[in-house]
Amino acid sequence: METILTVNHLTKKFGYLTAVKDLSFSIEKGNVYGILGPNGSGKSTTLGIVLNVVNRTAGDFSWFGGTITTHTALKKVGAIIERPNFYPYMTAIQNLKLVCKIKEVPQDKIEEKLEMVGLLERKNSKFSTYSLGMKQRLAIASALLNDPEILILDEPTNGLDPQGIHQIREIIKKIASQGTTILLASHLLDEVEKVCSHVIILRKGEKLYSGRVDEMLTSYGFFELRANDEAALVTFLSKHASFGPIKQENGLITAILKEEMKATTLNEDLFNNGIVLSHLVKRKESLEEQFLNLTNNKD
Ligand code: ADP
Ligand code: MG
Repeated sequence: METILTVNHLTKKFGYLTAVKDLSFSIEKGNVYGILGPNGSGKSTTLGIVLNVVNRTAGDFSWFGGTITTHTALKKVGAIIERPNFYPYMTAIQNLKLVCKIKEVPQDKIEEKLEMVGLLERKNSKFSTYSLGMKQRLAIASALLNDPEILILDEPTNGLDPQGIHQIREIIKKIASQGTTILLASHLLDEVEKVCSHVIILRKGEKLYSGRVDEMLTSYGFFELRANDEAALVTFLSKHASFGPIKQENGLITAILKEEMKATTLNEDLFNNGIVLSHLVKRKESLEEQFLNLTNNKD
């Protein structure tokens, strides 16, 4: 596995506010990463730090295994962290030629990149005539001109209509399928679910979860139980290897499953151990509920 970016115990303070707190993660080549978190959770600050536009307070990060300087490394990175900004009276082609001059990259990739984002037919239209979605797609084409190892996008679908959102997501998937590593920040769970293979969930600058999206999706659900002999039930569940945390609230016991189990199996098992239930429901949290539980503002 080839590591593109490593972030170690990164912290960023703005005065008294800690925007990023002791954050560590790594980005491996070929994956699509989502930094997921509600507004204000530190996503843009994190991206700003690794792109050298925001100074860190503590911790460090290294690109490509730390063998080259950040300045050199960033030449292999394509990033869109602001609203697309091009010259309104110039065409797409003219704008991208200018970008090539500024970035000191050859101009021969312009048409290929416009094709990639579905703007080839509109290459001679002025930027001012583009819809917001097209502007965003042009920004993606622009960020790809240097054939980056990794493409970084901050809330790439914000403000777009459903069709525009769909187009951007399809383009991101296409770019990823050709081997470019992607890191995108989003406050939208369904965006990360649809586009990303890996996720880093932030809340108030702290990492709550990082791992594969499909592993986050694997939830075996939980049982809600009541029994006359509550103590015996809790003891039984606590000793059982299939259960994670057991919660007790107003006589209702919640037992979270660590592996698949049918309600009938549990019921029989309890009965054979002398525990008679008065209430048994099996529930499964939706991914949305899991995300909201992870990121809710309980302090
Ligand atoms: P996100 O991108 O997840 O919405 P940000 O990284 O933009 O979050 O912001 C994280 C926190 O840091 C927020 O509370 C925000 O108000 C604060 N913040 C961001 N930039 C600045 C800044 N330049 N000065 C002061 N506070 C800032
Ligand atoms: Mg942001």
